[in-house]
Amino acid sequence: MGLFRDTVIQLSENKTLNDLTKQMGLKFGARKFVGGVDTEEAIETFKSINADGMSVTFDNLGEFITDTMDATYEKDLILEMIKAIDEHKVNAHCSVKLTQIGLDIDYEFCKTNFREILEAAKQVGIFVNIDMESYRVYDATMRMLDEMLEEFDNVGTVLQSYLFDSEEDVIKHKDERVRIVKGAYKEDPSVALQERESIDIAFEELIKKHLTEGTGFTSIATHDHNIIYNIMDFVERENIDKDTFEFQMLYGFRYDLAKQIVKKGYSMCIYVPYGNDWYAYFMRRIAERPQNVNLLVKDLMDN
Ligand code: FAD
Repeated sequence: MGLFRDTVIQLSENKTLNDLTKQMGLKFGARKFVGGVDTEEAIETFKSINADGMSVTFDNLGEFITDTMDATYEKDLILEMIKAIDEHKVNAHCSVKLTQIGLDIDYEFCKTNFREILEAAKQVGIFVNIDMESYRVYDATMRMLDEMLEEFDNVGTVLQSYLFDSEEDVIKHKDERVRIVKGAYKEDPSVALQERESIDIAFEELIKKHLTEGTGFTSIATHDHNIIYNIMDFVERENIDKDTFEFQMLYGFRYDLAKQIVKKGYSMCIYVPYGNDWYAYFMRRIAERPQNVNLLVKDLMDN
């Protein structure tokens, strides 16, 4: 299982495969996890999710960007989506990977792009969440968050429970809006927990701390029903206001469970990736859940 996960995550980082698959449209079952190839298609997906009583966080797919023109193009697509959300009056906010808008090229260039996104989003009342990528860019991501928090109040980030740093970070960011996840990348044992059980324990602890220690809004992002039920028990017991947190799930995963959660009166937000650059995202989903390989096989048989 560990070897399978490591191999698939390594494949997800292969630049040639990332470039090749961009030209192919949504293949290998990716459509199940990707809410459309462009802004127009994605907006229709957001509307149907909103109709089920859930909000959306959108992710314009794209990683491993090393060219300034590509980064500017991706930033413009995000601005286009912010405009479309306002025009169509859909309930959606923005998730951004900093490497998509130039972090691997130059920090200041990325900051200029990110500031433009935050300004546009602020004008129309949209929150922007910085997705947390691999530990390689952790320090730069946290620095960007701190600097942007000095100028904006519509920005937050993600804490990964497998990282040792998160225990301190959750207190540091207790008054900010934070998404808490287990963590999707392969990290070195010197910086991250490796065992599923300890990652799960740390995950619940981080969530409970963020829910109780400060005033920040907590996004609990998981498909793990056991943890979701444990947190529901906890918030009932501690009398925590349901307006101070939400659950989040990825598009294409456990939608029935998401609907049940909404029925119980909790807020649910669906993370919807869209666009042509789906390969790395899709491979990480296969690494997490090998059953998703079935989608890939079925698509190959159908074509
Ligand atoms: P897992 O550990 O994958 O699953 C736990 C258990 O839940 C399984 O054993 C099974 O019993 C059940 N289960 C899970 N999925 C299913 C299913 N599809 N069907 C049936 N049972 C299931 N990671 C980052 O590193 N950075 C980010 O910015 C980031 N953002 C995210 C945003 C959202 C909204 C979500 C949901 C995840 C995000 N992740 C991110 C990914 C995250 O770190 C995990 O890799 C991913 O969510 C898998 O962990 P899990 O908590 O869903 O549970």
